Amino acid sequence: MQSIPVINYVVLAVLLVGALACLVFGLRTHWHKIRQGKAFFGSPLTRKSVLGKVNLRAFVSLGLLTSRLKKKPVAGAAHGLLFFGSLVLIVGHGVLPLSWVGVSVYDGWFGYWFMELGREIAGIALFLGALFFLLRRVVPPERLSAYKARSGFKRMEVFLLALVVTGFAAESLRLGFEPEPSGGEFMGGALGALLAGTLGTDTAYTGFHLLWWLHGLMGVAFIGLIPFTALSHMLLGPANSALTSSRPGMNLPPIDFDLDDAEEPAFGAARLADLSQKNLLDASACLWCGRCHEVCPATQTGKDLSPKKVMAICAEYLEEGKLDDASLIDVLGRDAMFNCTTCAACVEVCPVSNNPAETILEFRRHFVMDRSDMPDTMAAANRNLESREHPFVGTGASPEDWRAGLDVPFFEAGKTEYLLWIGCSVTYEERAQEIARAMVRILDAAGVSYGILEEARCTGDPAKVMGNEMQFVEMAEANIEDFQSMRVQKVITMCAHCFNSFDRYYPELGADWQTIPHSVLLDQLMRDGRLTVERKTDQTITFHDPCYLARHNDIVDEARSVLSSIGQLIEMPRNKKESFCCGAGGGNYWGEQAGTERVADVRMCEALETGADKVATSCPFCLLMLTSSASKHGPDRKVFDIAELVAESLPEGEDA
Ligand code: SF4
Ligand code: SF4
Repeated sequence: MQSIPVINYVVLAVLLVGALACLVFGLRTHWHKIRQGKAFFGSPLTRKSVLGKVNLRAFVSLGLLTSRLKKKPVAGAAHGLLFFGSLVLIVGHGVLPLSWVGVSVYDGWFGYWFMELGREIAGIALFLGALFFLLRRVVPPERLSAYKARSGFKRMEVFLLALVVTGFAAESLRLGFEPEPSGGEFMGGALGALLAGTLGTDTAYTGFHLLWWLHGLMGVAFIGLIPFTALSHMLLGPANSALTSSRPGMNLPPIDFDLDDAEEPAFGAARLADLSQKNLLDASACLWCGRCHEVCPATQTGKDLSPKKVMAICAEYLEEGKLDDASLIDVLGRDAMFNCTTCAACVEVCPVSNNPAETILEFRRHFVMDRSDMPDTMAAANRNLESREHPFVGTGASPEDWRAGLDVPFFEAGKTEYLLWIGCSVTYEERAQEIARAMVRILDAAGVSYGILEEARCTGDPAKVMGNEMQFVEMAEANIEDFQSMRVQKVITMCAHCFNSFDRYYPELGADWQTIPHSVLLDQLMRDGRLTVERKTDQTITFHDPCYLARHNDIVDEARSVLSSIGQLIEMPRNKKESFCCGAGGGNYWGEQAGTERVADVRMCEALETGADKVATSCPFCLLMLTSSASKHGPDRKVFDIAELVAESLPEGEDA
């Protein structure tokens, strides 16, 4: 069969240049929309500064290798086929112009193994991947259709299938009339052999040329369409991963409260233009896949919040260029913004590295700081924070209660090694007070130099996650001043939220000490031989990971190591970074939406289904939430802090 005239390639190459121009134009349009957001990571996104913000590891692992897709093995494998197929075919077609300058890309091992066999397999992979996703959009899982299915994916999947089919059809017509096909293009060769017996040479030649053009034009159009269709995620997803923070979980940016008098203060976000550039890139990259919807504890317990819906609405406003449209906040809804427990499950699962929780918290900040509008229970906790520096309204406990009968040392500057930070929940909630009592026994038994503050304190974390940044900064600055005047170098926390605040947010305000969660310290003491425990082999324990240790701070192994030393550890199906929230975070300890299933009840059922004798955790808020749910299943005490279990495993005579 005659080969394709060179002029055809020239025309196609000119069209390709046009398609690439469309690609660049489309990406510039996204860039200009995203740049209308506020600066993030301390400086605005510019062509120069963008490189300095790149997280190479996340770019490769999450952006290019799409590692989060493995959490859904079938869809992940299908996406892998699409990715592999596209990559090989793009490279395989991209090297074709080399033959115009005398380099024969079809010769030798490269010609056979890559250009023929490799591209053939890639075409089949692309076809199977596109077919899988098309069928799944015809019969979608709930997460895909929740709120709305993103339009455009079906069209692009049909387009991809047609692209592959025209490629194979053209190849068959060419190979069917070749005297000695090499065999590398096995699919086209087999189909061609069938066609050779039924078509005349002229018909095949005409058909081949028509299909060659159709396939070539579709390929060129595919490139130009990328930024204007659902396929834009191919580029925006990796770009978003590249700009994701290297610290997991939520990183709420500080607010500059030093405004000059002429400026109208506006805190948080009511419009898209109030969000950061990264928040807007998140919305652009969102696939509307609903993986976040599927793991969100608020959504899954029937509350008025779906992170997918939040992201999709932001994406719609962005697409329509409604950056200054203040109707956005009311479309999203006040209650939805307060139902977020800040658990970061949505962050952990998102395949394009979106952070819906950060976006939600920006809207929450607006409700609290600009409108003074929040659910009544949270408002009461906030007022208590402002007037009494802790959020526990109506507590009967006094700061000295937990240490009644114990000889607990106070921190002495220059003498004491660790400050044992008690925190507000352990101070004011009777059940949580037992954590501090257990820690005192353990630290005494291990001979650790520690001391406490004379007065009760809160880190201000509840204010921050409820959206009251101003109150958080005030409390944090007071704590930092006191700690620095006492020359505190090391702090032990018993609360996951206190740890997160001290370690993540306090350094932004000038803190310079090291903070260690009690589960990590217990593990260290055991490894160093300073703490010995008696293992009860017949005791089974399941561990609930606090979100603020596991997902927000990647601390999952230490508690397991400790618990394995004192009993037999049994895992819940959702564990470590995939743990399910207890429902307390984001101020929902004080304000979980009434009339819905309690998040803690769902988690407690999971824990009980393991059949474990005891449920352990390492955060007082988790302890309190799960304990209140456990009480519905019987009077037995089932839920314990890790420190309580260690303290009761100390050999006789080792506790003070
Ligand atoms: S935020 Fe992420 S997980 Fe949620 S719908 Fe968008 S792409 Fe999917
Ligand atoms: S942080 Fe948790 S509660 Fe909030 S939207 Fe994400 S998954 Fe839902």
